[in-house]
Amino acid sequence: MKISDKLSQRKKGDVSYSFEYFCPKTEQGVFNLIDRIDLMSKLGPLFVDITWNAGGSSSSDTTLELIQVTQNEIGADTCMHMTCTNMTIKEVDAALQSAYDSGCRNILALRGDPPIDRSNDHNSSTPNGSNESESSDATTDNNRSEFKYAKDLVKHIRAKFGDSVSIGVAGYPEGLAEQPDNDLLITHLKEKVDAGADFVVTQMFYDADAFVEWFEKVRAAGINVPLIPGIMPVSGWASFLRRARWCQIKLPQHWLDALEPLAHDDAAIRAKGTELVAELCQELVRRTDIDHFHFYTMNLEKSPVMCLDALNLIDESAVDEGTAPLIVPTAQRS
Ligand code: FAD
Repeated sequence: MKISDKLSQRKKGDVSYSFEYFCPKTEQGVFNLIDRIDLMSKLGPLFVDITWNAGGSSSSDTTLELIQVTQNEIGADTCMHMTCTNMTIKEVDAALQSAYDSGCRNILALRGDPPIDRSNDHNSSTPNGSNESESSDATTDNNRSEFKYAKDLVKHIRAKFGDSVSIGVAGYPEGLAEQPDNDLLITHLKEKVDAGADFVVTQMFYDADAFVEWFEKVRAAGINVPLIPGIMPVSGWASFLRRARWCQIKLPQHWLDALEPLAHDDAAIRAKGTELVAELCQELVRRTDIDHFHFYTMNLEKSPVMCLDALNLIDESAVDEGTAPLIVPTAQRS
């Protein structure tokens, strides 16, 4: 089912969530991930995203396989990420058709990152963490690209599939390394929506004020589709710092003050990080029209599930349906 329909069919006041997973490199990793998606899907995410490795490397087949299994065997609605960097239209079309034939009705249309010179990594706009374990594959030859920007891909998908699919695009509340002008980025976001996108998923962020400022500018620019914040749970001190650095986002001082003293205690940092993420989400609900959170799971279950629990978003009935291993002790509500 289309994400646009799922979002609009919710009851007024409902808050929903989705999970994002990236493609593991090994066969065993894929098996393990499928088990994890299966278990976490029982909690009731509105949809499940599978990332795409820019340039259409061998992991494209894994993306398509994960879409097929999640959609048809697990029974969760899927959203496939699709980049157009270093892809011919024929290759893009083959991937889109395969996902469509699997029943996937949602595409997050992206440009993907241009070729990266890793010896001089100052300009790397590493994505939402999705390619964390795959970044070396990003050194691709960009000559085969037939679409220049994500908006061209959006137009193409709309022309090919009409209204039978929902199309999402990426938004950057704290900017993008290659484009220092945030207002221009919002103009380009508007072009993607005008080309046919019906929702926006954002890059990760931790600064509520920066997000709200961006949100207000986006709405003032006449972008009226649902804005879905990308939420990165905190699973450890080093990964918290590393992901923020990659995405070049601000780390609010009160987050650093609260988390740094716990740097050597993973359980404590996860618990404190959960509190902070939950406060961030609650603040967004209070200050904006946000009512859906997209969790970058990093293929892990503990931290995202703790966040959902802290936000009271876990359906009690799901706890009885074989999800017990997911429910951490703090989640045993009275
Ligand atoms: P675009 O919207 O095309 O923008 C790219 C650049 O072009 C921007 O600087 C923009 O300002 C500029 N631009 C756009 N239109 C114009 C115009 N008309 N004139 C001049 N300049 C213009 N990457 C992956 O490889 N795989 C993934 O699965 C993946 N998932 C992601 C999910 C999310 C939610 C996000 C936020 C990012 C994801 N990425 C992924 C990363 C993404 O591919 C990169 O951030 C990429 O560098 C930009 O992609 P885009 O779709 O935002 O590009």
